[in-house]
Amino acid sequence: MKFLFISLASLFVSVSAWAQQASCSVGELSLQVNVASGRASYSVTYAGQQLVKPSPVGFNSNIGDFFNDISLVSSDVTDVVVDYSLDRIKTSHVHHDARELVLHLKAGQKLFDVRFHVSANDVAFRYEIPKQGETASIRIFSEQTGFRFPDNSTTFLCPQSTSMVGWKRTKPSYEEEYVSDAPMSAKSAMGHGYTFPCLFHVGDNGWVLVSETGVDSRFCASHLSDYKGDGLYQIAYPMPEENNGNGTVEPAMSLPGVTPWRTLTLGNSLKPIVETTIANDVVKPLYSSLNTYKYGRGTWSWILWQDGSINLADQKQFVDLAAAMKFQYVLVDNWWDLNITRDSIPELVRYANQKGVDVFLWYSSSGYWNDIEQGPINCMDNSIIRKREMRWMRSLGVKGIKVDFFGGDKQETMRLYEQILSDADDNGLMVIFHGCTLPRGWERMYPNYVGSEAVLASENLIFDQHHCDREPVTTCLHPFIRNAVGCMEYGGCFLNKRMHRSNASGNFRRTTDLFQLTTTILFQNPIQNFALAPNNLDDAPAVCLDYLRSVPTTWTATSFIDGYPGKYVALARRNADKWYIAFTNGTDKPMNKSLDLSQFVTKNQVVKFYYDDEKGNPQLKELKIKDPKKVPFKLLPNGGSIVICDIQ
Ligand code: CA
Repeated sequence: MKFLFISLASLFVSVSAWAQQASCSVGELSLQVNVASGRASYSVTYAGQQLVKPSPVGFNSNIGDFFNDISLVSSDVTDVVVDYSLDRIKTSHVHHDARELVLHLKAGQKLFDVRFHVSANDVAFRYEIPKQGETASIRIFSEQTGFRFPDNSTTFLCPQSTSMVGWKRTKPSYEEEYVSDAPMSAKSAMGHGYTFPCLFHVGDNGWVLVSETGVDSRFCASHLSDYKGDGLYQIAYPMPEENNGNGTVEPAMSLPGVTPWRTLTLGNSLKPIVETTIANDVVKPLYSSLNTYKYGRGTWSWILWQDGSINLADQKQFVDLAAAMKFQYVLVDNWWDLNITRDSIPELVRYANQKGVDVFLWYSSSGYWNDIEQGPINCMDNSIIRKREMRWMRSLGVKGIKVDFFGGDKQETMRLYEQILSDADDNGLMVIFHGCTLPRGWERMYPNYVGSEAVLASENLIFDQHHCDREPVTTCLHPFIRNAVGCMEYGGCFLNKRMHRSNASGNFRRTTDLFQLTTTILFQNPIQNFALAPNNLDDAPAVCLDYLRSVPTTWTATSFIDGYPGKYVALARRNADKWYIAFTNGTDKPMNKSLDLSQFVTKNQVVKFYYDDEKGNPQLKELKIKDPKKVPFKLLPNGGSIVICDIQ
């Protein structure tokens, strides 16, 4: 829960013909805007420390230059209340005060606004462009929009991939490796900048998470440029090669029109970063749904049994596994069109439904933009075929689709995402995206959106030992970065020791079972397709299976406790009358640490305590809390612990 305190005295706005300045503060956060020498810039301080140095705003377009010859006409500030409920994000109800500072600017003779949305730990801003005389549309060529950090800042960044490379020429798809604690001067791995979100550590002064939200069919998705020097990164648009070279990189929209919001979450600790809801605070639902969607856990044969498991007999085994685990869903992955066939899908759905399990079906997004041959292909990119498919699924009682292998971040791909979501809702289908872009406020914008991959996800543990070796570190990055701004459909929680259906060959898992269980709390997505296989019913510890039979996938609150990106993380999420507290050690050393759990437990309260014993076997005991401010934990290397407690 966030409790915000805003002093009316903290608001200060001044505009004058010569000073050309404006500012806006909420709590410890203060935004300053300056217009000088024909250029506009903004900077942000938190608790008196400048975390974002004067950074440029502006853009170039086919109707003129909105970067040079800028003057401030006027500005105004309004108080706003952010208040909404959403059942698919890290908290179920968001309520806080915020302020919006709008700069009314002139670029030469052209008018435009910059709207800043300011709350206790977040700044979001976008351009708002009115009709310019008779001109009622715009193409934006590029933006100068920037983020300038103090010299001592270090970075946690994920490089943008080169286009049309990787599996069946499907990249970029947000599946590269984050590099921790790198200097700003480091070069991005492929020379194409960095994908959102981007985390900056400003020395001892604080943290800043930069991202983007509110991207729909009316704009492209952006990323961060390579380092420009002097602390500066800028907004970069998609690469021409994306989508196999089809489609423009220059977003176009009608006027009046608005750009997506670019967001900064700031604080002197990581708590506001982990808990931020800014991605959903500044967007609105784009349609209301007549459907009620149910979230939950699923089995997914493909992750351990791979392509060979997409047949009727194996899928029935995974339905049985879902039923045995009290999971709600089974996800039927690629090649079902060939190896199960459309004729037998009704039988599979009936079989699942009889066992209380519902079905998700996989589709390729393709398309002319990659070489994907896993079927079904060429169904989701064409509105006639897509609607036919979705009506068929609705007639069978299929509850959702997973659409994979998108073509990049161009505006035409954003249109495709939106069309799939909109048509799917017409047919009562939830949508998961894989091989895809970062979701940007989509939980609130699209009522049937239930998750995106956009991360180097669990499949990589199957593919390469390197990713098993990195799993402890990457797991401890996601709550601070990727999963801080949007749902993350990771497909994790392995109980196999080896990354193969036999559980006797394949890559070695480096983490303990308890580590795996903590990821069910660390990783937030309303549908969790866990990486279990039927053998786990016999060979996995009962304590793990019992835990997974009841762990929720939706949360009413999220509270950060302690951690450092890539090293360890302790956080609590609440569901109904219980807190689920996960503590994960991403280092290869034992970790003995006491956590302050006084926000969650009381003295002498008895809690469920899950831990690794000295041999790394998962154990559960009842623990009476002696001192809620100092609850001791002993974590194994790459281990974890979980506390489940009733809310007092
Ligand atoms: Ca993938």
